[in-house]
Amino acid sequence: MAVPHDVVVLGGGVVGATCAWRLAEQGLHVLLVDPEPGAGASHAAAGMLAPVSEMHGSEPALLRLGLHAAGGFADHAARVQEASGLGVGYRPTGTLLVALDAGDRARLADVRRRQEQWGLQVERLSAAQCRQREPLLDPAVVAGTLVPGDHQVDPRRLVTAVLRAARERGVEFRRTTGEPAVTAGRVTGVRTPQGEVAAGRVVLATGARATAHAPVRPVKGQVLRLRGNGSPVPHHVVRGTVRDRAVYVVPREDGEVVVGATTEDLGYDTTVTAGAVRDLLQDACALVPALAELELAEAVARSRPGSPDNLPLIGAGDVEGLVLAVGHGRNGVLLSAVTAQAVTALVTGQDVPPPVAACAPGRFEELVRWRG
Ligand SMILES: Cc1cc2nc3c(=O)[nH]c(=O)nc-3n(C[C@H](O)[C@H](O)[C@H](O)COP(=O)(O)OP(=O)(O)OC[C@H]3O[C@@H](n4cnc5c(N)ncnc54)[C@H](O)[C@@H]3O)c2cc1C
Repeated sequence: MAVPHDVVVLGGGVVGATCAWRLAEQGLHVLLVDPEPGAGASHAAAGMLAPVSEMHGSEPALLRLGLHAAGGFADHAARVQEASGLGVGYRPTGTLLVALDAGDRARLADVRRRQEQWGLQVERLSAAQCRQREPLLDPAVVAGTLVPGDHQVDPRRLVTAVLRAARERGVEFRRTTGEPAVTAGRVTGVRTPQGEVAAGRVVLATGARATAHAPVRPVKGQVLRLRGNGSPVPHHVVRGTVRDRAVYVVPREDGEVVVGATTEDLGYDTTVTAGAVRDLLQDACALVPALAELELAEAVARSRPGSPDNLPLIGAGDVEGLVLAVGHGRNGVLLSAVTAQAVTALVTGQDVPPPVAACAPGRFEELVRWRG
């Protein structure tokens, strides 16, 4: 007779896969249900671990959470690597925010003042210092900010490695869709097209598809992958604003360069548009002209799981036994390890670390409604 599962994790993106692995490490019998693990937003993500570059000054809880996550990410990457035997492309090379005109320079200086008030590590760079660090920058760059603590990881390699670590820890996989099954206000397992699977706990980690169960909305992002084939590429993550559009360039250790990303408040949509490809290439080449020589290897669109206040929802759902791990927006790769740690704590009856406690879904009490 099959042994019943302690926990079913719905969704095998970077968040659900990491939750499944960490739960199995606690000795729990875990089933991960996903028709195509790793193929959601995690497949498109650039992998910037960038709480400081992403800081807008008005979201202190998100900043605290991001810093907490970034502080532990190198250890997490090393653990995943050790558990899976696979590299994850973690690169602590820092991020360079550049300004292309006087208005940009003033904006960067304003943000830097707020970053310094928060005690964040940032360094003002002149145009010459920017080019010294990154010789491929366009000569039009007039100033910059170096954020040495904002690193990056390759999300595709990370998810592949976490899925393997999970499998080696005994996580079972089922390639299908599922929905939490609820009887008398309590989760009893998940319903799949092939039948019901019993479990005392269900972790909902279906990303932008969680709209029926949580206040999550899809936020479309289109992103490009360029391939160097030996051509020179930047060393740092480079970010800037071109024609009022934010653009980033993320160089991987294998010569791949990720250029992103659009932010479009559409429904769930994976269409790549000609206009987005044109804008992303134009804007990225305005920062680093040499990118024009690279091969355009891939263009992809996925939906980020946005939440109303940009903080994820991590914690008890409004049905007993349901744990939410959704709504990670632009930061799901960065926040994957701290989310899994918190979900594991919740399932095993431990305390959730303070920066993650701010993500309790109860803050949307009137919004989180079970409609199953
Ligand atoms: C263009 C772009 C760039 C980004 N860049 C960054 C970045 O630089 N840094 C960063 O930290 N974050 C970034 N993000 C955000 C990040 O990708 C997301 O926050 C993160 O992937 C969310 O992970 P997830 O596991 O919750 O969702 P997903 O990765 O979307 O995974 C959800 C999974 O659930 C599965 N699923 C859906 N419905 C069901 C169902 N009913 N049953 C079973 N399974 C189901 C799907 O198949 C999928 O595999 C970016 C996102 C985009 C789109």
